[in-house]
Amino acid sequence: MIKDIISNEDVKEFFSNELKRDKNSGTYLFYGSDMTLLMEFAIYFAKGLCCETLDGDFCNSCSTCKRIDSFSYSDLEILDNPDGITVDQVRSLGYVSSSSSYEGSRKIFIIKDISKMKKEAGNALLKIIEEPNNGSFFILLNTNLNILPTIKSRSIIVKIKKRSAEELGVDKFTYDFFRGNNEDIKKFKELNIDLQKGYSYMDIGKAIKHYSDNEDLESKINIYKGLRDFVNNRNYLADIDKIYFAEEIVRNSGSRNILRDIISYTVEILGDIQGLQDRLQMKKMMRAPINMKLFFINFFLKI
Ligand SMILES: [Zn+2]
Repeated sequence: MIKDIISNEDVKEFFSNELKRDKNSGTYLFYGSDMTLLMEFAIYFAKGLCCETLDGDFCNSCSTCKRIDSFSYSDLEILDNPDGITVDQVRSLGYVSSSSSYEGSRKIFIIKDISKMKKEAGNALLKIIEEPNNGSFFILLNTNLNILPTIKSRSIIVKIKKRSAEELGVDKFTYDFFRGNNEDIKKFKELNIDLQKGYSYMDIGKAIKHYSDNEDLESKINIYKGLRDFVNNRNYLADIDKIYFAEEIVRNSGSRNILRDIISYTVEILGDIQGLQDRLQMKKMMRAPINMKLFFINFFLKI
């Protein structure tokens, strides 16, 4: 039920009030720095809209709630494209939204990373949300508010704040280690891993390779530990070792997402010290199609 959601009391109140209004359609923009948490809240709201037992809330135990939780509810569609959803995806969404629902009276569309969408796709989406079909609800998710103003102005904007260390039930070191990432911390609590135990920067390639193949939290933790080890020792390392480190990272990464995460994690653990602006600039550069190997060598030589 809504009252059982941990954190973001104001959002919980908004959910209750909004669901009571019993609307025919709606567009919402959930934003906040933790995408896994945005998704979690989008699922709560979707259950609130569709639950077959409770009005204006969700029960978590009816077949609809359960199927939404397992992403197997036919009237829930999640669009997730790391490069931004395409105009074709938006068109097919428009088609689905105009056809009748399979299960209940409402169809829910959750669209991740709305700011990565190209302009053409954005305009196509705008048309759909401007005149939504009866029963269609769009929940747009983004880590910031830098999205098309026309889409923003047609959405109800909901800010989802990160959970605190206390709300997640962990100490400050653990919280900072995972940068407050909700899903990582939840998974971590189920495993028995010692965060204090060291992991050499020289082995980072192994951890990345393993993570690329399995996406397991243990390898992710080893990647983070390796980055911390490098940052702590960077003043004593020869350039050749730094270059080796950078090459190992790029050679073993299966996707750009891992590389992006490595840069943002490193920038964050370096904290607000000299040259932060430079580093943020580099973080931005990651979005451009550049030579990754040169970029990483340059980055790790410079810090
Ligand atoms: Zn239910």
